[in-house]
Amino acid sequence: MRSEQFSYQRHQFFVEGVSLADVAKAVGTPFYAYSAADLQSRFRSYEAAFADIPHLICYSLKANSNLAVGRVLSRMGAGADIVSGGELRRALLSGFLPQNLVFSGVGKTKDELILAIRKKVRLINVESEEELRMLNDVASSLNRPAPFSLRVNPDVKAGGHPHISTGTPDNKFGVYHKNIFPLYLWAKKQRHLLPVGIQSHIGSQITRVSPFKKALAVLLDLAGRLERAGVPLELIDLGGGLGVSYNDEEPQTPVDLARILVPALKNTGLTLFLEPGRSLIAQAGILVTKVLYRKGAGPKHFVIVDAAMNDLARPALYDAFHEIVPVHRSSGTKVRVDVVGPICESGDFLAKDRLMALPRQNDLLAVLTAGAYGFSMSSQYNSRPRAAEVMVSGGRYDIVRRRETMDDLIRGESIPRGLV
Ligand SMILES: *Cc1c(COP(=O)(O)O)cnc(C)c1O
Repeated sequence: MRSEQFSYQRHQFFVEGVSLADVAKAVGTPFYAYSAADLQSRFRSYEAAFADIPHLICYSLKANSNLAVGRVLSRMGAGADIVSGGELRRALLSGFLPQNLVFSGVGKTKDELILAIRKKVRLINVESEEELRMLNDVASSLNRPAPFSLRVNPDVKAGGHPHISTGTPDNKFGVYHKNIFPLYLWAKKQRHLLPVGIQSHIGSQITRVSPFKKALAVLLDLAGRLERAGVPLELIDLGGGLGVSYNDEEPQTPVDLARILVPALKNTGLTLFLEPGRSLIAQAGILVTKVLYRKGAGPKHFVIVDAAMNDLARPALYDAFHEIVPVHRSSGTKVRVDVVGPICESGDFLAKDRLMALPRQNDLLAVLTAGAYGFSMSSQYNSRPRAAEVMVSGGRYDIVRRRETMDDLIRGESIPRGLV
């Protein structure tokens, strides 16, 4: 479902009353634009859906870690799910409170664990026995408590693509559910380790809520058995992963998720943590790009634009679909086009075999549902400066990341003395 914040007014595409053509004139192309109102309304729908039980919605920062995006959510009381020391820094700068931070990831370094304990994050999601031992060493040497969950691999299949399915034993994530018991019992005996929760994150772009129900059943069963064994927990963290509509998917919503989770948790005394990323920010963002050239090869048309796989990797990486619409709507006859970028790879496309009115040179196109895993996965491949990002809110826009410069491209590089 397209966000109501993005709409045509007399054939021009607007975000929250701001003309994208005007933004393009001022900041150049390509650029990402985010609607604060859209993001806020999606966060509110999570909050409303889970209002009946104690909960914390921890935005998964890796979906889009721009400071302004984080600030919109932290001001509404959201927590954040972070996966690196760099994201910890971003989260704090965005205004997330340490007690609302969850630190996830399969390979946290010793330095990252030190930082997390020093900054007093609420929860560290541990993914292996060796990481748990490292956390214990670090917490002991700092003489500070380390509140943690084990990330359980619940052996539940979910997720929109093999690269984003994470809940079965044949991928690298979590501790197999049959192996977690002795780890909690060992941790209970360590002075600095605080077993406060249990976590799973089963995948991404999950359009049905039933896998979450299965994962919850596994976690609740383990939590119950742990309590009987003298390790009572405070919280269950079910990760993120709810999907969005890129094309014709009809994903279930936070309300559907709440309908299956809330009754099961209501009288347990456990607090529910969720870590949504995509379902909060994907639809709130678009990528605006300009047509450079067109060319034909037989029946096929190529539209070459100034955004590429370095700006939006999802089509190349996951064969993902993103709807593309003209910023100025015209009524030409529709033809089949590939929308491609300037990068020297055949995988550099934004859309394939798309039926659309053939745009003209210099026309602007908007790539929709690009707010999640768009800019945050972007790179400088082909020495292309990364795009600008703007946040639209209440009829105005602000540049929240300036376009990179040629100097940014070579920052930190040098030629060895012997080669000068
Ligand atoms: C990526 C990730 C998320 C967010 O997933 P979405 O599909 O964007 O909701 C949440 N938790 C963990 C541990 C993750 O790795």
